[in-house]
Amino acid sequence: MNFYMNKKNLMASKRKMKRLISLIENWNYNYYFLDQSIVEDSIYDKHLRELKDLEIKHNLILPDSPTQKAGHSASNKFRPIVRQKPMLSLDSVDNYEDLLKFDERVKKILKKEEEIEYICEWKIDGLSIGLVYQNHQLIQVSTRGNGNIGEDVTFNKELIKNIPFFLSTIANCEIRGEIYMKKSEFFRLNKELEKNDSKLLANPRNAASGSLRTLVPLQNRKLHFFAYQLFNSSLDSQSTCLRELEKLGFAVSPDYQLCKGIEKTKEFIQKHEPKRLNLDFESDGIVVKVNNYDFYPLLGQTSRFPRWAIAYKFLALSTTSQIEKIYVEVSRNGRITYVAEIKPVTLQGSIISKVTLHNYSFIRNLKLNIGDKVLIKKAGDVIPQIIQLIKLTENIWLPPNACPSCNSTLKWNPTNIYQICDNNYCSQRTINLLAHFASKSGLDIKGLSQKNIEKLYQNNLIKKPIDFYQLEQKREELLKLEGFQKKSIDNILSSIKNSKKKPLTNLLIALGIPLLSSVKAKKLSIFYPNLASIRTIIENNEWEKIRELLGEETQKEMKNYFQNPENFQLLKELEKIWGN
Ligand SMILES: [Zn+2]
Repeated sequence: MNFYMNKKNLMASKRKMKRLISLIENWNYNYYFLDQSIVEDSIYDKHLRELKDLEIKHNLILPDSPTQKAGHSASNKFRPIVRQKPMLSLDSVDNYEDLLKFDERVKKILKKEEEIEYICEWKIDGLSIGLVYQNHQLIQVSTRGNGNIGEDVTFNKELIKNIPFFLSTIANCEIRGEIYMKKSEFFRLNKELEKNDSKLLANPRNAASGSLRTLVPLQNRKLHFFAYQLFNSSLDSQSTCLRELEKLGFAVSPDYQLCKGIEKTKEFIQKHEPKRLNLDFESDGIVVKVNNYDFYPLLGQTSRFPRWAIAYKFLALSTTSQIEKIYVEVSRNGRITYVAEIKPVTLQGSIISKVTLHNYSFIRNLKLNIGDKVLIKKAGDVIPQIIQLIKLTENIWLPPNACPSCNSTLKWNPTNIYQICDNNYCSQRTINLLAHFASKSGLDIKGLSQKNIEKLYQNNLIKKPIDFYQLEQKREELLKLEGFQKKSIDNILSSIKNSKKKPLTNLLIALGIPLLSSVKAKKLSIFYPNLASIRTIIENNEWEKIRELLGEETQKEMKNYFQNPENFQLLKELEKIWGN
């Protein structure tokens, strides 16, 4: 009976282990081959731990178990690099209790009572690489791959902006560290991709990995490197190693520090965890290493991890919620934006109830629907975004056919990514346009909030931008409006009057011509210093000059804008009053 039960139990466990292996392998495949993290680290770790526990319980390791490998096997896209010394990953903990256990284990193996000296470095959320130098020259760059066999990505070394290609003091060596993309670079890149309606990058880690692990060089991308390991027999500790790396011209983890004992280590972590948000690189923890290299051979390693180091993982910056509603808004240029209302959740101290869905192709790609669970994260720690979907429904949310404001039929942009309301008289579009005209970056008309503008629009006092300048004659009607007192009206009217003396750049921005950024508007106003000269561009068809000045895309948008007779009319009317 007992035997039978045990056997049944083992069969069930085996099935479970197989399921876990295929799940984890799929995540690994996405992570290492497709540069897509389709599962949150904590969920990945939980499943891997579950598999490990089952393996220990039954003393059984199935073939292909991911617990026996560091990372996924190298992709066959790249030339394989067989390593002399395997590149291991680090075991991790996410609480102080487990960190203490790590310290106890170290002391036990070393048979030491006194405090161990640890060195703390930022854990960079990037990808590990090895650099090989021969005769002082950098001859090889390779990714971790499966630890033993890496991928040759030497042809992309130019993308890494802060590594020396030549070492003056050492002829032959291998250096290891982490490749990452700076947050600032990541945001710049995504802005550029968004402008071109390209697929956005999920996070800096994927961006770094995708940039390095491509056969088609992406020269407009910048990567950086933090070094943490130098194979050189003369080194006796991690602190001398980091100093040596700095001398060689490598960047190492900023703020690294020696901590005597695990309590001091804990203090370091507590002090640095809140600081991670202000770094220009993504850090998801602190790497704690035994400083003294003499201890390393004694401590040894498991098949996956060295026993002389541990990664302490920070608290998650993401949380899950459920989509309760999806709605659309129309922007001033007619582009439809998609927003999800979620069950309110607290993330890093603020309550989140709405997340952006970017565009419809984002919804289509994720197969998103009302009722689905989502993992959300603050992008750049400000705007909440969906980073993962837990599909609970069967269908995809379908886009509306009509504009939520004017009810006219929506069209698709040429690449089918988002919808457009092309009704020039659409009230929401117009209100947004008027609000942009009066906004701080535009003509900075004081006292005109979006709400006030809506009121003026609905009472037929302002229907188009030029109407701001006729408001003076409508003082009586303004006084009749709820919430408008004599004093506030005086202030608004004087602010409107002053707006005519603003630099031409502000007026150009206020018009809201797509792609005409403040930098480009400024450039334009240097060569065309007044509205009359801008008018001549249109009348004399001088678009070639504009193309040279602002680039083809902006020229197209500008031409398109002024080909609309109403916009050209606005220009002529503004010309009459501007500067007076
Ligand atoms: Zn509309």
